[in-house]
Amino acid sequence: MIVVMENGAAKGQIEAVIERIESLGFEAHPIHGVERTVIGAIGDERGKAALQQIEGMAGVESVMPILRPYKLAGRELREGASRIEVAGHCIGGDEITIIAGPCSVETDESLMATARAVAASGAQMLRGGAYKPRTSPYSFQGHREEGLKMLEAAKQETGLPIVTELMDPRNCELVCQYADILQIGARNMQNFQLLTEAGKSNKPVLLKRGIAATITEWLMAAEYILSAGNPNVILCERGIRTFGTETRNTLDLGAVAVVKRYSHLPVIVDPSHAAGDYHYVETFSRSAIAAGADGLMVEVHHDPANAWSDGAQSLRPDKFDRLMKQIKPIIEAVGRKATW
Ligand code: PEP
Ligand code: MN
Repeated sequence: MIVVMENGAAKGQIEAVIERIESLGFEAHPIHGVERTVIGAIGDERGKAALQQIEGMAGVESVMPILRPYKLAGRELREGASRIEVAGHCIGGDEITIIAGPCSVETDESLMATARAVAASGAQMLRGGAYKPRTSPYSFQGHREEGLKMLEAAKQETGLPIVTELMDPRNCELVCQYADILQIGARNMQNFQLLTEAGKSNKPVLLKRGIAATITEWLMAAEYILSAGNPNVILCERGIRTFGTETRNTLDLGAVAVVKRYSHLPVIVDPSHAAGDYHYVETFSRSAIAAGADGLMVEVHHDPANAWSDGAQSLRPDKFDRLMKQIKPIIEAVGRKATW
């Protein structure tokens, strides 16, 4: 529910409403605007009827239901867009953020070669999976803690903060020791225990859209993280399963516009897992920036033909460098900034 206070409601009246919301077992989220204050009441939906009594309190103009099921992820309770600070970068502000790196952390040498290359081209963050969600149990599953250590070494050398996937709530503490951003993969978008664990951590979370998730389901997944106490969620569109087979998934750029309309959370696009084929990655990336995405996460490998996973969709460093140059005028055209 949203409690809209009257224009000029006294401080004491606002405090009384907050107290009442809390005494009814809800959390109060006041937003003090220039003209008036609105207070979001968040909690068990079953207690909604009791909140309606607040309409009779002094200084209250109206009590309205929140129309969308995502309360903390939505715009109804919040003015403006969220900006998420990560190691000196701001995701969701004016600047476009580029995260690049291999699908999996493979060897020290290959990770370092790719990390150096993406840093030289201007990427702001390094990606790489140490825990890999693979369709087959016989495929490479990642080096786990060893992989995290390799990421740490690449960070030391290049200065790039690390984005890496968390697959199991039991590993949350360990992965948090190395990650600057925790990635929740598409397959785990509705792993509610994992979302809650990431929500209890103090690391920003990159939440990928599920393979067949609606936008509402995706935002409800974000709601799990936010309601567990972590305000730093970055959404990532990575393509969804449709009837088309020519690309690995169907990149839903419309979702970027919809999410921007209904949520204050930043949204980035992963063109690589949408495409499944490096030929499309540059076009998808340019389109994503034009559609209003706050950044990109691109798979880059110094030797894609010998990559341990997702080689077909990985860009060689020279192609990634060309992409970084190509997107600059598009970034400027949509009123954003490139820092490279
Ligand atoms: C990945 O980023 O390497 C990955 C596994 O992505 P997704 O969860 O989107 O399939
Ligand atoms: Mn991958």
